[in-house]
Amino acid sequence: MQPSADSLQIGNYIGALLQWRDLQTSYDAFFSVVDLHALTVEQNPAELREKTRRTAAQYIAAGIEPSKSTLYVQSHVRAHTELAWILSTITGFGEAGRMTQFKDKSARYGADKASVGLFTYPVLMAADILLYQTDVVPVGDDQKQHVELTRDLAERFNKRFGEAFTVPLPVIQKETARIYDLQDPTAKMSKSAESDAGVLWMLDEPAKTAKKIMRAVTDNEGSVRFDREAKPGVSNLLVIYAALTGRQIASIEDEYAGRGYGDFKKGLAEVVTGVFGPVRERALELLDDPAELDRILAENAAKADAVADRTLADVYDKVGLLRRV
Ligand code: AMP
Repeated sequence: MQPSADSLQIGNYIGALLQWRDLQTSYDAFFSVVDLHALTVEQNPAELREKTRRTAAQYIAAGIEPSKSTLYVQSHVRAHTELAWILSTITGFGEAGRMTQFKDKSARYGADKASVGLFTYPVLMAADILLYQTDVVPVGDDQKQHVELTRDLAERFNKRFGEAFTVPLPVIQKETARIYDLQDPTAKMSKSAESDAGVLWMLDEPAKTAKKIMRAVTDNEGSVRFDREAKPGVSNLLVIYAALTGRQIASIEDEYAGRGYGDFKKGLAEVVTGVFGPVRERALELLDDPAELDRILAENAAKADAVADRTLADVYDKVGLLRRV
């Protein structure tokens, strides 16, 4: 994830962190706060540094264990930019230009504001993945094209220079895990939403979170029932409820049958603050001791270095760079 906000939102938690937390028990997992990627749009330097720490703290608070997984800051591991350079030399200009995310963003910013870094973003992402001999990449649907490019680059390199990379598979997250804005339940909940009222921030005070849930947009029908088309607001709240409790939507519908939205929202507010309360406290505790947090990140960057440097040295040899003795 990019360190692009002071706090993550509940969509990041349900759509990404919850699944990542489970993955770390069955995989040797690498999680990174991608600060170099964040530089592709203008950042305030002091804020970027702070957001990087805050994002890492929230990963840990949400259950990513730095002793079990490798949790590091992208810029701490130099091999990322070095491998990105090598990969950029085997990436076609037209090939990179076909990435829909670049096309969308450059259309939005205009040709002069869209940087070369934004253009080569998917190549850096390919390096992020290939350095660790990655088998699977859990991504949202919007990142699928970038993982396809990563696979193409790995296959191309292996064919031209000899086997250096595992060719990774994308694992696309389930669509049911998508969380929508509480005030506009047809728009994805996002760190960059225009209005704060529709976003549940992980670091918000519990009372503020409860208030936002009580004010969430619903409909006039009055029955707690899942129907994404006709009742997007209530359906979104049901998805959040189910994701955080591990319950089936039908069982939640049963529980609230014949009761109003007020009761349902109160119940949901208890669930959300019950889960986020401890996560928030743990994150704030970690942020209270930045030296300790930095130490954890440094230790994990060293773990990442050990794997990444091995891949990079092999790549340098294979492309014919003279070894420094
Ligand atoms: P972003 O904040 O858009 O950079 O996303 C970081 C991660 O959180 C990605 O894995 C996204 O798929 C996930 N994510 C972000 N917003 C949502 C949402 N509203 N619902 C589900 N997953 C989300």
